[in-house]
Amino acid sequence: MAERVIPLVDERRSGGPTVRAIALPAQDTRPNGLLADQLGRPLRDLRISVTDRCNFRCGYCMPKSVFDKDYAYLPQTALLSFEEIERVARAFVAQGVQKIRLTGGEPLLRKNLERLIEKLSAMRTLDGQPLDLTLTTNASLLARKAQALKDAGLQRITVSLDALDDAIFRRMNDMDFPVSDVLAGIEAAQAVGLGPIKVNMVVQRGTNCQQIVPMAQHFRSSGIVLRFIEYMDVGHTNGWRMDEVLPSAQVLERLRQGIGPLVALSASVPGETAERWGWATPDGRHDAAAGEIGLISSVTQAFCSNCNRARLSTEGRIYTCLFATEGHDLRAVLRAGATDAQLASAVAAVWTGRTDRYSELRASLPPDAAGAPDGASPRRIEMSYIGG
Ligand code: SAM
Ligand code: SF4
Ligand code: SF4
Repeated sequence: MAERVIPLVDERRSGGPTVRAIALPAQDTRPNGLLADQLGRPLRDLRISVTDRCNFRCGYCMPKSVFDKDYAYLPQTALLSFEEIERVARAFVAQGVQKIRLTGGEPLLRKNLERLIEKLSAMRTLDGQPLDLTLTTNASLLARKAQALKDAGLQRITVSLDALDDAIFRRMNDMDFPVSDVLAGIEAAQAVGLGPIKVNMVVQRGTNCQQIVPMAQHFRSSGIVLRFIEYMDVGHTNGWRMDEVLPSAQVLERLRQGIGPLVALSASVPGETAERWGWATPDGRHDAAAGEIGLISSVTQAFCSNCNRARLSTEGRIYTCLFATEGHDLRAVLRAGATDAQLASAVAAVWTGRTDRYSELRASLPPDAAGAPDGASPRRIEMSYIGG
């Protein structure tokens, strides 16, 4: 009989990082949208993970070797219900959040997600505006769900697509999923008016660099903004290596050589993570009809100083950085019967204590400081657990 090797640290469990109880202040302070963390950064953006499961096994996110049939995903009872997510989202909005992105795992796998979208789309920011409500998806179920998502009040959508070449794409999602279904999902989203659509491509040297130019050609003049993302050292299961990162500057160079000139565009909102570049006319102006691309240089150009984003995990922990090793247990506060004011105070307590700036510090940290496999160091959260 074949022997099974039991690793010293079992990677096939959800979460991993430590969890911290939130200490509520003796008296609730009235939220006014002016919260600032220890580095003076406001709270404006919330990512909500609605599931830790996915039907893809992208090697940079959920490698099959770890996320196998024995992997311990969160049990149903651990997940926040839609009603709980709605209450938490209200607390964040009371504290200044203006934008919410649903993510996962694969968010479209969460049953009846439209019901949650209906609740979130009815919310208003502190100055009475609708939330900027969006969702990131691998689009495998998008063709089927686009209309229902739109009807529920979703405004726009981001689709992840790493290659147009079918063989490369099937290899990267590692579930033999064809690229044609993703393209059909994008078309369906366009047809129902979910827009503007963004497409995210994680660029991994040695895997899909040859797809940079074909992807840009495909989405040029389509009204869709293609964004190239540097492969990041999130979590500790993807075996990240710096030599697999293609710096954005080199992506730009390949685009200029392969397609033509690009001009720098200014940021459309403060704290924007993507650097914007527009396709140029022969006389060097932005060719608006051809559109633009984005470069997200999470590794080579840290944007921590503008980072106004909190993350809520599927089971209700707040994480204040994508590279966090510790979450704050908002679910415990919620399920202990907290009032809305107490929930908002809990959010404030976490945000005002925040000091995160991992990307700025990355170069000065010892190799794999947070992701050491021997269990000696604290473990970073996985991307599939917290969402991008
Ligand atoms: N399953 C959905 C999807 O793929 O769009 C949503 C969740 S996924 C974790 C969110 C985003 O994170 C995707 O665009 C994915 O490409 C990106 N991502 C995952 N692992 C990454 C890594 N190691 N480096 C950079 N981006 C990553
Ligand atoms: Fe799934 Fe998205 Fe991660 Fe790919 S990137 S494995 S689609 S959660
Ligand atoms: Fe924000 Fe953390 Fe990323 Fe810096 S490393 S930009 S603090 S999520």
